[in-house]
Amino acid sequence: MGLFSKKDCAVCGGRAGLGSKKLSEGVLCKDCREKLSPWFDAFSEASAEDIRSQIDAREENRRALESFQVTKAWGIKKYQTAMQFIYDGDQRCFVVVEGPEDTFKDRNPDIIRFDQVRNIWLEVEEGWSESDNQYAPASNRILTQDKYDEVFWRYDFYLNFALDHPYLSQIRYPMNFKTTVIQVPQRMFLFKRGLELAGEYSGEEIAYQADRLEAMAGKEEAWIRLGKYSDVVRLKYSDQSLPEHLVKDIKNDLYIKKIENVAAHVRRAERISRLILGK
Ligand SMILES: [Zn+2]
Repeated sequence: MGLFSKKDCAVCGGRAGLGSKKLSEGVLCKDCREKLSPWFDAFSEASAEDIRSQIDAREENRRALESFQVTKAWGIKKYQTAMQFIYDGDQRCFVVVEGPEDTFKDRNPDIIRFDQVRNIWLEVEEGWSESDNQYAPASNRILTQDKYDEVFWRYDFYLNFALDHPYLSQIRYPMNFKTTVIQVPQRMFLFKRGLELAGEYSGEEIAYQADRLEAMAGKEEAWIRLGKYSDVVRLKYSDQSLPEHLVKDIKNDLYIKKIENVAAHVRRAERISRLILGK
C-alpha cells in the first residue's frame, strides 16, 4: 500500500478536492496549483517531480524579482487589471503580468530572459457583430459586401512568445483590455472587410501592419476633412439628441481614434518584438 491514497495530492500529500488537476501520474491539489505560474497549463504531461521543481523555481523567482529594475512598462494604463509587459533592459529580461506596475512584484510573475524567447508573433482576432455591445458574440453568419459598413467589426490582440524555459513553453497574453469595436465606412466600389487585419504576424510583418494602420488613420482623416465621406455620418453610434453636424464630428473623431487605438496595439507588439528579437 502506498503512502498517499489516489485522491491525495501527489506533491504535498494533502487532500486534492475541488480545483485539483490531473498530472501525468496522480493529481495536484488547489493549494499547490496556486503556487505555479499562471502561464503553466501542461499538467497532463507533468510529473510530481516537475511540479516540485517548478514550485522551487517560483520561490527562487520571487527572490530574483527583488533585483529586477523596471526600465519600462508597456500596456494599457487606464485599467487596473490590464496586462503589462515590463522589462529590465540592463539584465535583459521581462515579465508579463496582470495589473499595475507599482505592485507587480507581489504577484510573483515569471522572469523570462530575452535569450529564452525563440519567437514572437502577434495574433489578431477579427470578427463582426450586428450590435456595438462590448460583449456581443462575434457572428459566424455569411456577410455580404453591402453590409460591410453596417456591422460592427471587433478586434482582439494576443501576443505570443515561444520559449525555451524550464517550465513554460509559451506565453499568450491579451494586449487589449476591451475588445475594440469599430464601424468601417466604405468608399464607392471599394469594399473593405473591416480593417482586414485578421491573422498572425511576426517581425517585419508586424511593422508593416502598424505602418498600414497609421497611414489608414491619416488618409481617412484627410478624406473626412475634404468632406468626401458622406458615408461616415451613417455610422450608427447612437446619439440622436445632438444636432447632425455635431454627431458627424463626434463619429468621425471616434472612427479615427479607433483606428489609432488598433494601430497602437500593433505598434506595441512591434516594439516588444524588436526589443527582444531585434526585429
Ligand atoms: Zn498539494
